[in-house]
Amino acid sequence: MPEPGTFAATLIVSFGRHARVRSDAGREFDARPMGRKMNCVCGDRVDCRHDPGHDEVHIVSVQPRRTELRRGDARGRSEPVVANVDLLAVVAAPAPAPDYYLVDRYLAAAHCAGINSLLIANKLDLDGGQAMLQALRQLAEPLGITVLAACATLGHGIAELQQQFAGHTGVLVGQSGVGKSSLLQAMLPPSQVRIQELDRDNEGRHTTTRSEMYALPHGGAIIDSPGVRDYVPAISALEPRALGFAEIERLAPGCRFADCIHMREPNCAVIEAVANGGCDARRYESYRRLRRLFQDLQPQPGSQRCR
Ligand code: GDP
Ligand code: ZN
Repeated sequence: MPEPGTFAATLIVSFGRHARVRSDAGREFDARPMGRKMNCVCGDRVDCRHDPGHDEVHIVSVQPRRTELRRGDARGRSEPVVANVDLLAVVAAPAPAPDYYLVDRYLAAAHCAGINSLLIANKLDLDGGQAMLQALRQLAEPLGITVLAACATLGHGIAELQQQFAGHTGVLVGQSGVGKSSLLQAMLPPSQVRIQELDRDNEGRHTTTRSEMYALPHGGAIIDSPGVRDYVPAISALEPRALGFAEIERLAPGCRFADCIHMREPNCAVIEAVANGGCDARRYESYRRLRRLFQDLQPQPGSQRCR
């Protein structure tokens, strides 16, 4: 329950220190966090207060997050980019050429954050579309992840996408140019299409990071922001044993050593599964690459670990 004099709301736009909230009663207000140290991001559940003499409401507290996606930097530090998302849709396309290692990293980050994931094969009108769709299905099947076929420009797969998002708060992630904005625009009613371009200065550098939550016509919502679109998962947010690779997590109890990291240990159930075809060799190679990156970043004081 909110404190007396406050009301519960969801943070739906975040733009520097400016925010917009939607109260649970459905009213929207410009808002501002109380105090410099308050860290709130799009998707946060917040308590707000009207203060006399202010047009904006004040955000007085941020509720604990059910989930958060953390963005990593090259030094292994991380910061939250969106909160309370429960569906992460990874978009891939035949052009730009799919980076399956990046897809694996998104899936690993979602797994560690307790967020369900979905793969979207977009631009299936282009050459190479079917081969990519096959590769994504092969990747997704052992993990129990759904693959949706789509073509944003022709409107194919949009109804299925809306169904998948109904009742969820999601994000679209993936390489630049795979069609995330196009898919989002296609999912929104025409009256609501107002997706902002990145604000840029004269040299073309990004000057702002505005995040916005869009309500979808069949229920559910998508959070769009440059921070999420360009999002590279924070390695430090990965669970240290299996780095968020669900099949490795499942095989690990069969390893001889409880602290096996499946790189060169004897009697490793993961290495054995790769040798006899019980674990996909490309996924395992992806795990090894991430493991090396992870080791380069350790030890990181204060790093965020998977729950
Ligand atoms: P984002 O960077 O992931 O947000 O990608 P955009 O939505 O900006 O799309 C990048 C380019 O791909 C644009 O020129 C789109 O028109 C184009 N595009 C998006 N979806 C499709 C599709 O399904 N088929 C084809 N051929 N082009 C697409
Ligand atoms: Zn092992």
